[in-house]
Amino acid sequence: MKVTFLGTGTSQGVPVIACTCEVCTSLDFRNKRLRTSIYLEIEGKNIVIDTGPDFRQQMLRENVMKLDAVIFTHAHRDHTSGLDDVRPFNFKHNMDMPIFATHRVIEQLHTEFSYIFINNGYLGLPRIETHEITEQPFSVHDITVTPLPVMHMKLPVFGYRFGNFSYITDANFISETTLELLKGTEVLVLNALQREKHLSHFSLDEALAMVEKIKPAKAYLTHISHKLGLHSDVEKELPSSVSLAYDGLQFSL
Ligand SMILES: [Zn+2]
Ligand SMILES: [Zn+2]
Ligand SMILES: [Zn+2]
Repeated sequence: MKVTFLGTGTSQGVPVIACTCEVCTSLDFRNKRLRTSIYLEIEGKNIVIDTGPDFRQQMLRENVMKLDAVIFTHAHRDHTSGLDDVRPFNFKHNMDMPIFATHRVIEQLHTEFSYIFINNGYLGLPRIETHEITEQPFSVHDITVTPLPVMHMKLPVFGYRFGNFSYITDANFISETTLELLKGTEVLVLNALQREKHLSHFSLDEALAMVEKIKPAKAYLTHISHKLGLHSDVEKELPSSVSLAYDGLQFSL
């Protein structure tokens, strides 16, 4: 399995429009973060988790020629608003894009992308094939995916486990039940927004405490705000098994 970070930034991205802080004006490419998403190449299939507003740019940057499925974590706009841009894959491969999401997320997509679900015969519309998932493990083209239910303030969100790899974004609480599901995970991706405590995201300290509890061999932090600080400064403070993710970072396992 190969994992590519398509984006590692929080909802506004980094740099933030009109911000002149040292992170937003840094020339280091690792301080330029598109909205959070990852790309998985697994058993010959290409899967994206979430289609945020930068989805088009991310597909072009990583030269993705075919996409076999999209899995959604939750329906916040920074994770869904690029859905319209699955059209080139519809056209090129003459296929409806399979999307996997909970009932709640699918309902939200119906509201926000009503034109996609109204089949008026117009050929320019995105074509999607909806798969409703629950907390039970499900198959994406025969690849087993285990949902990792977490809380994002009051909103239930799904992280996902693929074999020894687990991905959790947009969480500030992980239950004991989900910690059980995370047992033995080799590589963990977890959100860490900023240094200060936040209502709906883990802070850096909270994320590090959670990593300490889960004990993966390697952890990457994502969904990062400009308030976290310069990538190079934060990296120096982290334990050796933890790294800040950055856009374009890849690893295989
Ligand atoms: Zn988010
Ligand atoms: Zn800034
Ligand atoms: Zn969110």
